[in-house]
Amino acid sequence: MTVAPAPARVVIPRFPGNKRIAVTTSWDDGLVFDRPVVEAFNRWGIKGTFNLNSGILGRTGKPTPIEAKQRIDACEVAELYAGHEVAVHSATHPSATLVSLAEFAQEIIDDRKALEDLVCYPVRGMAYPNGAYNAEVIALLRQLGIVYARTTEAVPNCFPVAEPLAWPATMHWQASNPSPMPQRWNECYNNSRWSGVFFIWGHSYEFDRGDCWDKLESYFAPLGGKSDVWYCTNIELWDYHYARSRLVVAANKRTAYNPSAIPVSVSIDGKVMDIPPGKVTPLV
Ligand SMILES: [Zn+2]
Repeated sequence: MTVAPAPARVVIPRFPGNKRIAVTTSWDDGLVFDRPVVEAFNRWGIKGTFNLNSGILGRTGKPTPIEAKQRIDACEVAELYAGHEVAVHSATHPSATLVSLAEFAQEIIDDRKALEDLVCYPVRGMAYPNGAYNAEVIALLRQLGIVYARTTEAVPNCFPVAEPLAWPATMHWQASNPSPMPQRWNECYNNSRWSGVFFIWGHSYEFDRGDCWDKLESYFAPLGGKSDVWYCTNIELWDYHYARSRLVVAANKRTAYNPSAIPVSVSIDGKVMDIPPGKVTPLV
């Protein structure tokens, strides 16, 4: 009996299926303008993370011009955002650095619980209201079961970061420095050696405020429908990152053990296969 040779190289790619790029998006405040964004994303196969303030859902009143626009109703949340991610944005949108830590803790727990009642899964992601945070807030969120928290900062290589609770995006969709989003996307996607996360954030009311709904299509449709792109929510990206980091490849490269709850892709001498969750899988 001959024994098959062990693989020469087992690589654990960054994204499922050895895709080159991950596209993820994040939208704050849960206004009614999320509806056309979700509808368009569903057509283009793009996923969104929607950061909601559960304490003011359905509200139409003042005081700010933004809040004069109507927010999504609680009864609409589960169906509208199905297939996307619902995440915490605090119950009533205070800046974390302007209220007491105890009050902010209450805001986060209240928001988690109310959103979980609506969507029926553990809500673990977050975006900071008004982008405000500090070291104490980060330590608090870790205690409250928040896995990642998006800031309003932007960096060219946004993932992974050492502190998931201070997570910058690639850019706000309307930012123009160093270049507008369509150009940034082309630079990343058309560079076959570029691999990474293209992470866009914004507010759906910005399409309405500037009367620039045409940009929803011209900016975001080009991101969709690519076979070498993984379309994921924010939490799917972090969950995969942690599952991948826990994958165990045997020293002799003949087996792999995936102790997590989701499949993890490996590339065995260039051939991609998925290691199913919760068991040992032969690689030869
Ligand atoms: Zn907000």
